[in-house]
Amino acid sequence: MVKISFLGSCREVGRSAVLIESKKGDQLMLDYGVRFSKEARLPVEADLSHLKAVALTHCHVDHCGALPSLYSNHHRPPLFTNEVSLVIAEKLIYDMLKISRYPYPFGKHEIEEMKKNAQFLEVGMKQKIAHEFYLTFYNAGHIPGSVSILVEVDGKKILYSGDINTIPTNLVEATTSRIIPEIDAAIVESTYALRKHSPREDLEKKFVENTMGTIENGGKVLVPAFSVARSQEALMILDKYHYRGKLFLDGLGTLISKIYYDYPNELKNKLHYRKAMSKVNFVNRRRKRELAKKSNGVIVSSSGMLKGGAAMEYIKPILKDPSSAIYLVGYQVEGTPGRQLIDEGIFHFEEHNISRRTDYDINIKAQCAVKHFDFSSHSDGEELHNYVDNLRFTNHSKEVFCIHGDNESTGTFAKQLVNKGYTSVAPEDGETYRI
Ligand SMILES: [Zn+2]
Ligand SMILES: [Zn+2]
Repeated sequence: MVKISFLGSCREVGRSAVLIESKKGDQLMLDYGVRFSKEARLPVEADLSHLKAVALTHCHVDHCGALPSLYSNHHRPPLFTNEVSLVIAEKLIYDMLKISRYPYPFGKHEIEEMKKNAQFLEVGMKQKIAHEFYLTFYNAGHIPGSVSILVEVDGKKILYSGDINTIPTNLVEATTSRIIPEIDAAIVESTYALRKHSPREDLEKKFVENTMGTIENGGKVLVPAFSVARSQEALMILDKYHYRGKLFLDGLGTLISKIYYDYPNELKNKLHYRKAMSKVNFVNRRRKRELAKKSNGVIVSSSGMLKGGAAMEYIKPILKDPSSAIYLVGYQVEGTPGRQLIDEGIFHFEEHNISRRTDYDINIKAQCAVKHFDFSSHSDGEELHNYVDNLRFTNHSKEVFCIHGDNESTGTFAKQLVNKGYTSVAPEDGETYRI
C-alpha cells in the first residue's frame, strides 16, 4: 500500500504539501508552501524522518514558501526543481520574510541549505529517489518553469497536477493531460472549478482597447499585477495589440522580468518577450518613479490584489482622477483591497510597517474607472473536467483527490467527478489515504 498524506492546501489555496510514502516507509514531499492568513502558516506537522526527496512544482509561495524549514537540521533531502523556479523561489521567500511579521522558523541559513541541495531535473527525465520510487516532471502550463509531477512508487503511478493551465498564455504553452502515462490516482488542483473564464482573446483585446482609450483621453492607467508572470503577461498583451504609449514597470516585477531574460527556454516565445520588454521603462530609482507619476501612460506595478507594494506609490491621484483608470488583471480574493475596489468602488488600505518603510492610510471613493480583466493562469471548471477526463487510469476506481481550491470548489468538483464515475474526495488537512 502506498500512503498519500495531505499536509495542506485542503479546501483552501495555500500551504500546498503532499507526502507520499512507500511500503518500505521511504517518503517524498511534493511542494511545501505557506498560507497568508490565519496563524498556522506552515503545513501540518508530520514525522518526516524518512524523507528521501522533495519536489517542487513551481515558485509561487503557496508551493515553495515553507521549503527552507525542511533544511533546518542535518537531514537534508535533495530538492528536485528547475533553475528558474529555484532562482525566483529564493527571491520570493526572502521578500516574504522581509514584509511579514509572522515568526517563520527559518532564515538565511536554511534558504542557503535549500539552494545547496537543489538538483535540476528536466521535463520528461525519470529520476530515482529510493527503492522502487521515481519521479518525472511534465509541463504544467501555469507560469514559466511550472511542472506537474508523476510519482511511481511500488508499481503505482500517482499524478500531482500542481497548478495547471490548459489554455496557452503569451508567456507559456498550455498543458494537456494527454501527455501523462496511465495512472492509478491523481491529485488535481481545483482553484477555478466553479468558474468559467471569458474567451482569452476577447479579454485581451478589451483590455488593450480600454487602455488605449484612457491614454488617448489624457488619463493614466494603473495595472496592479502579481510580480511573477502576470506583470510580464500584461506587458506582452499590450505589445501584441500595438499599444504604443508610455509604459512603466515598478516593484518586484522588474527583478522577475530580468530573471526571465536569463531563462529564454522557459518562455513560449522569447522574441515576443524581448520585444515587449524593450518598450518598458523599468522603474528602479526615485527619479524614474517621479517621471512615471507625471507621465500619462500605463504603470504596471506589483501587488496583484492591492495589498501594498509599489502600486501604493501611484494609486491616490489616479483614484481621484475621472479620466484615469485602474485595471486589475488577476483574481481578487475576498477581503482584499482589490476585491473591495471592484465590488464597492472604494479603496481602503492601511499599513504601517517599519521594515517595509510604509505608512499608508488610504480611504478613497474611486472616481477613476475600475475594471477587472482576469488573465488567469489556472484552468476553469470545464477545462479541469476535460483535464481529468483525458487522463487514463489503470483500473475502474479512477481515484481523484481535489485540492488547492476553497471549500466549495474542492467539494463540488469532487462531487461532480463522483457523479461521472470517479472515486473522488476533497481531503481535509492531515488526512492520509492508501492506494
Ligand atoms: Zn501557482
Ligand atoms: Zn498555487
